[in-house]
Amino acid sequence: MSTYDLVVIGGGSGGVRAARIAAGHGAKVAICEEHRYGGTCVIRGCVPKKMMVYASHFAEEFHDSSFYGWSTTVNEFDWAALITNKDKEIDRLNGIYINLLKNAGVEILDGTGELIDANTVQVGDRTLHSDKILLATGGTPFMPNITGIEHAISSNEVFHLEQQPKSAVVVGGGYIAVEFAGIFNGIGTDTTLTYRGDQILRGFDNDIREHLAGEITKKGIDLQLNNNVSSIELTEHGQRKVSFTNGDVKIVDCVLFATGRNPATDALHLDRVGVEVGLKGEIVVDKYSRTNIDSIFAVGDVTDRIALTPVATMEGHAFADTFFGNNERIADHENVPSAVFSQPPIGSVGLSSEQAKEQFNNVDTYTSEFKILKHTLTDNTERTMMKLIVDADTDKVIGAHMVGPDAAEIMQGIAIAIKAGATKADFDSTVGIHPSTAEEFCTMRTKD
Ligand code: NDP
Repeated sequence: MSTYDLVVIGGGSGGVRAARIAAGHGAKVAICEEHRYGGTCVIRGCVPKKMMVYASHFAEEFHDSSFYGWSTTVNEFDWAALITNKDKEIDRLNGIYINLLKNAGVEILDGTGELIDANTVQVGDRTLHSDKILLATGGTPFMPNITGIEHAISSNEVFHLEQQPKSAVVVGGGYIAVEFAGIFNGIGTDTTLTYRGDQILRGFDNDIREHLAGEITKKGIDLQLNNNVSSIELTEHGQRKVSFTNGDVKIVDCVLFATGRNPATDALHLDRVGVEVGLKGEIVVDKYSRTNIDSIFAVGDVTDRIALTPVATMEGHAFADTFFGNNERIADHENVPSAVFSQPPIGSVGLSSEQAKEQFNNVDTYTSEFKILKHTLTDNTERTMMKLIVDADTDKVIGAHMVGPDAAEIMQGIAIAIKAGATKADFDSTVGIHPSTAEEFCTMRTKD
């Protein structure tokens, strides 16, 4: 039996970061991965998705360019070319992850890891004894149990469709559903987005949700609220006959369920060791990512804290520094910014107005809604929205939100200001970059 200081199960963002930082601190580390290194984000998530968003948004750019004097002839969109090029880049990134691990001196094992006891992991025919074990197995798509669900795909399969669907129903109102509805719509797929609740993106600021819903509808997505898919049948021509709870029926090429993700723990055999799990099956951890078993830790989506790549890497890094680097650190889950790569995208950090009003006595909000300079020459009717949420008692900015081009890029900088405790007066005294969209965050003088 081989002996290690740390064995990591799962080669995604959190696991890889923890493994190589721990090895850098001098620990003897092994990592196992059953699929490909890079995890959900690199292989079947954030990275290929963003490439597809770029691909999709070109359609609008081509159209808008004519108002700036360009004459373009756009031929058919070539789905196969996109998928081939995207796969090539994902192969390259997978290789980079493997090299990062190798260069850090981490032993790489291909295969599924399972717990044998609190200090033993089995990977194929290898039995590994380890002082500490880190569980970083991520999540898997949740598919509701409706009739004909086998005729639908999840986000795992959408990256490998052989052909562009000419028509699609996307189910769900979260990040993945809204992003893929935008991708499909942009490349010319006749797209329906159906969400069971009143408004997409539950948890985001209500004005932002409504604004985005209006924008994606203008761009051609058939947004069905308070509606859900009740069953799916395969037609004789290989299409999907989709029945909705409101009685509608649609025949489409593809049905994509983006109805949330569950922690991926089945293969771990947590029960053998008694690792505590929560209601969704997530591994329960404390602020140091410790489970209830002394030698076992968990980071990333499998813990269902905040399911974002940079959060998983932050947790993995803090774990490695704390337990192998003699540098006690806690991953900070406050004011984590995020973006929805919808079209137009959302950038968001801190509290929504609704959350702020629950937590603070006096809340001021500032909202601005306008057409960006670029579109003053085009016939594009897209409008941008920005919002600042301020604790009126301290003047601190406690939330910033935006729907509009470059929202993710803009919000990263705003997040630093908010993390540093910037006040509304600090925003007001910052000189804007002109002409830019972002400067609006420095000139919002009138309260709502
Ligand atoms: P989310 O949890 O964000 O959204 C799931 C959606 O599916 C919700 O709208 C939910 O509705 C709906 N839903 C759940 N169950 C059902 C059901 N049985 N029938 C119909 N609808 C249902 O999950 P996603 O899958 O979109 O994404 C998972 C996570 O991955 C995200 O939370 C995010 O953390 C991360 N992610 C981040 C991205 C980014 O940073 N840009 C991109 C993609 C993913 P309801 O609101 O009513 O519960």
